[in-house]
Amino acid sequence: MTPHGRKLRLATVVREAGIADSGVLSAMAQVPREAFVPEAFQDQAYENRALPIGHGQTVSRPDVVATMTDALAPTRRMKVLEVGTGSGYQTAILAHLTRRVYTVEQDRSLLRLARERLTRLRCHNVTSRIGDGWQGWPEQAPFPRILVTAAASGVPSRLADQLDPGGVMVTPVTTPEGGQELVRLTRDTDTGRFTEERLGQVRFVPLISTTDGSADRADHERS
Ligand code: SAH
Repeated sequence: MTPHGRKLRLATVVREAGIADSGVLSAMAQVPREAFVPEAFQDQAYENRALPIGHGQTVSRPDVVATMTDALAPTRRMKVLEVGTGSGYQTAILAHLTRRVYTVEQDRSLLRLARERLTRLRCHNVTSRIGDGWQGWPEQAPFPRILVTAAASGVPSRLADQLDPGGVMVTPVTTPEGGQELVRLTRDTDTGRFTEERLGQVRFVPLISTTDGSADRADHERS
């Protein structure tokens, strides 16, 4: 299949995932996934599968990236916090759709590579740093949107606290049965209370606890 044919197939995969938002479709069409995939997996860059990016991490499946972005419903005027830069692929998609992306990654060499790729693709509205995503980005909080691309046992409470009233966070969480589900957390504009929606099964690498054990606290009593 030609590179063009592969891209068309990816667009079909995204549409088949139920994505109709023209902004998301266009961002998915514009960001070249091959730029985020290691040399050894170039031929699979447009397959609908997660691929290894080194250090035990993966670039997420395109339909999952599209679904999460769609569930987040970001707009041009928003800044977004992303936890887990990884390859930078999801970062680039968000950069196409928002005013600025603040992205945190715990792995130094992954972040260095992601920065190089994002610069090469002229995604200039990205600010990144090495750090513990459990802590969010307090200096820039609150955020109208937060996207987490690694799974914890519940919604990280410090991240929830960094959501604007009316804000939305999308994050994978592990289930007691050993699976994972995508969760969308919305903070009520008036009451500040959180509601949780379950958006289906997913599979992500774990959200690593990089500082201390207390960071591993999840808050299940918010909805
Ligand atoms: N969105 C990425 C995929 C991310 S894989 C992409 O499109 O390529 C999950 C990433 O989260 C990995 O790079 C991992 O190093 C990072 N991560 C895991 N725990 C973290 C933490 N506590 N803080 C910051 N990053 C973390």
